Amino acid sequence: MGESRGRLARDRINTNALKVVTRLTENGYQAYVVGGCVRDLLLGKSPKDYDVATDAHPDEVRDLFRNSRIVGRRFRIVHVRFGREVVEVATFRAPHNEAETEAHFNDDGRILEDNIYGTFDEDVHRRDFTMNALYYQPETDTLLDEVGGLADVETGKIRLIGEPENRFREDPVRMLRAIRFRAKLGFDIDDAAESALRRLGYLLQDIPRARLFEEVLKLFMNGHGERSFEELVEFDLFGWLFPDSRRLLDSTPARELIRLALASTDTRIAADKPVTPAFIYAALLWYPFLEERQSLIDDGTPMLPATYEAAGNILAKQQLFTSIPKRFSLPVREIWNLQFRLPARFGKKAFSLLEHKRFRAAYDFLLLRESAGEALDGLGQWWTEFQEADADQRQSMVKALGGGKRGPATGSRRRYRRRRRARTDN
Ligand code: ATP
Ligand code: MG
Repeated sequence: MGESRGRLARDRINTNALKVVTRLTENGYQAYVVGGCVRDLLLGKSPKDYDVATDAHPDEVRDLFRNSRIVGRRFRIVHVRFGREVVEVATFRAPHNEAETEAHFNDDGRILEDNIYGTFDEDVHRRDFTMNALYYQPETDTLLDEVGGLADVETGKIRLIGEPENRFREDPVRMLRAIRFRAKLGFDIDDAAESALRRLGYLLQDIPRARLFEEVLKLFMNGHGERSFEELVEFDLFGWLFPDSRRLLDSTPARELIRLALASTDTRIAADKPVTPAFIYAALLWYPFLEERQSLIDDGTPMLPATYEAAGNILAKQQLFTSIPKRFSLPVREIWNLQFRLPARFGKKAFSLLEHKRFRAAYDFLLLRESAGEALDGLGQWWTEFQEADADQRQSMVKALGGGKRGPATGSRRRYRRRRRARTDN
């Protein structure tokens, strides 16, 4: 604990973060780089963003940087922008303890409002984990460690600052953060925190849905999604985010499908390829969707409306746990719908499916379903070959299906529809 020098090479720190700290210091304020970036630098990883903590108030920070603006309601912080990079500057905040008025907490002890400025020492103690409470002053090359964070980084421990249960109650999202850091850093959650975490998952019910959605994205799209998922399940938190998926996890191929979708997301992130939450949500909710669709069909709803309604119902139900913005729920529906169209390849259908803007995602999804253990009669393989084939080969592949002869051109509309339903049912 205390102060040490020579722990971090100053030249490894992002120059923009250095500029911010320097300008604040020159103007008589205290300023440190802090949090995940210090932790990651100590671990030899490149931080994905930089946070600065200071005793300057947001307006004062604002005045020092032309390229800055104040953001946030729950926390007012200042974003200082350098081209595409942003350095987040937060004013020291006070932790919430019994000395404070109860108005800041709800009945579970959750913080409702958090804009109370504090001293350096208070700022240390309001942070979540010891490994996230390391402050580095680049001018003097000093690392300040008030709560034993350095030792915990060195031994790989995720330890809450203070009493674990209280800290989780104050902000239950810290439970998800613990899981995320465990998956990302390979650290262990210390025993006291682990037992609190296993008991307190239900507190996630009180967190605003939009914040949970953000946190789910951080868990699943940080390059360690597969591990994050497995840890969420292992630590009994998954069911508080995706209750229907949790219920079907072992009675369907859901666990495998989700695992594969996240593994493929991890691989894409490692290769700097774009990823979308829609694909992940499609996998997370596929089996709940199929179950809902089947039960509508069993109740007499025709196949097409059942597919449509089931998607709506499942997505609406999921919104009670984590919000899903429209720009993601629409592609989820398209990926699902296409699963029922991919088997119907006769006539011109295969060709027009290939042109569908969601074809690639739907095809990838189809392959995952097969890998997860769904028996689809070689459909994925067929589509793989179809994409690789030239124009003539494609024609003969479609002909070989034999469906064309009995397609809509020859059959009555009614017969065609009945047959199509039979073909697409799986
Ligand atoms: P990463 O950026 O790698 O996801 P991080 O630790 O930097 O990890 P951020 O969400 O960027 O996480 O937060 C920056 C810092 O703010 C954290 O290191 C921690 O000190 C503090 N912090 C963030 N969220 C909380 C919280 N819910 N409770 C207490 N402190 C928090
Ligand atoms: Mg960060």
